Amino acid sequence: MKTELFGLFLHEITQRLADFKVPSYRARQITEWMYRQGETDFERMTNLPKELRLLLAEQCCITELSVIAEQHSKDSKTSKYLLRLADGNAIEAVLMRQSYGNSICVSSQVGCAMGCSFCASTLGGVIRNLTAGEILSQVFHFSRLLKESGGVNSIVMMGSGEPLANYNEVLRFIRLCHEEYCLNMSYRNITVSTSGLVPAIGQLAQEGLPINLSISLHAPDNEIRSQLMPINRKYPIEQVISTAGNYAQTTGRRITYEYTLIKGVNDRPQHARQLAAKIRGQLANVNLIPVNPVPEKGLLRPEAATIKEFENELKKLRITTTVRREMGSDIQAACGQLRHKTSQ
Ligand code: SF4
Repeated sequence: MKTELFGLFLHEITQRLADFKVPSYRARQITEWMYRQGETDFERMTNLPKELRLLLAEQCCITELSVIAEQHSKDSKTSKYLLRLADGNAIEAVLMRQSYGNSICVSSQVGCAMGCSFCASTLGGVIRNLTAGEILSQVFHFSRLLKESGGVNSIVMMGSGEPLANYNEVLRFIRLCHEEYCLNMSYRNITVSTSGLVPAIGQLAQEGLPINLSISLHAPDNEIRSQLMPINRKYPIEQVISTAGNYAQTTGRRITYEYTLIKGVNDRPQHARQLAAKIRGQLANVNLIPVNPVPEKGLLRPEAATIKEFENELKKLRITTTVRREMGSDIQAACGQLRHKTSQ
């Protein structure tokens, strides 16, 4: 079987080449082609000797994701791509052209096991974890597209999957993004979003990576949260919030609590007060997300006045609060609307 080079660290490529008795400086040249130029064809790596190019083509590969379908929002700010993995599975990745740069949302698993009631990504369960290379390939898909328009500026792991349920590959991906021979991206431009896997959040805090952590909270108490997010039965809200608080203290990074507002479920002023009481004193902010319609789930969006009232209640209690600007809901690329099925 050929060795997949995409997703390997420089030292691992060096090691692989050493098996072929190829000097280590060639590994640096390969990373230059593969990660800096986005080249996938060894034949076009013209500063490598012909024999090495032939050897690489025989023994190794660099897999690119192919585009199955693409959709663009009416305002052209959001583009969603359905991408095919080498084994035929499909994942979605989204580009959001923000005022502060190009932000992309990548998937970490095919499907998701978490079963959040407002989310389309979980409808078929989890199929498998993605490798670091497959997550990185989504970024490279956009880097190629955005070559002339600023490249990828920030990455959010909010596509399908629970990133912390695929901990090792996600960490590998994040570290690769930061390597100077790869994307040379600041950790501060990378956000991991989790449904609240408490032990993994604790572990992440110890990694010494100043990445942003976003917690999908979506409810002010255990009763509502367990209805919306089955994972809450395992890790109750108090544990999630206290572990997130420790993350903020250890890393110095502000936590974002994502809170999807659903009509008649979690959108009352008393819910805002309960939420504020739980997170008060933390280095944190709340991002309110008026729910996006997922037809299968029958969830409704609150009226604009209700959203405003909720926001004001939090602000009155000195909680930094934003309301997510809606991007791409006309192409079902907004949060909770990603799907892995090619048929949909
Ligand atoms: S919201 Fe995130 S964790 Fe929950 S089911 Fe969807 S993809 Fe999984």
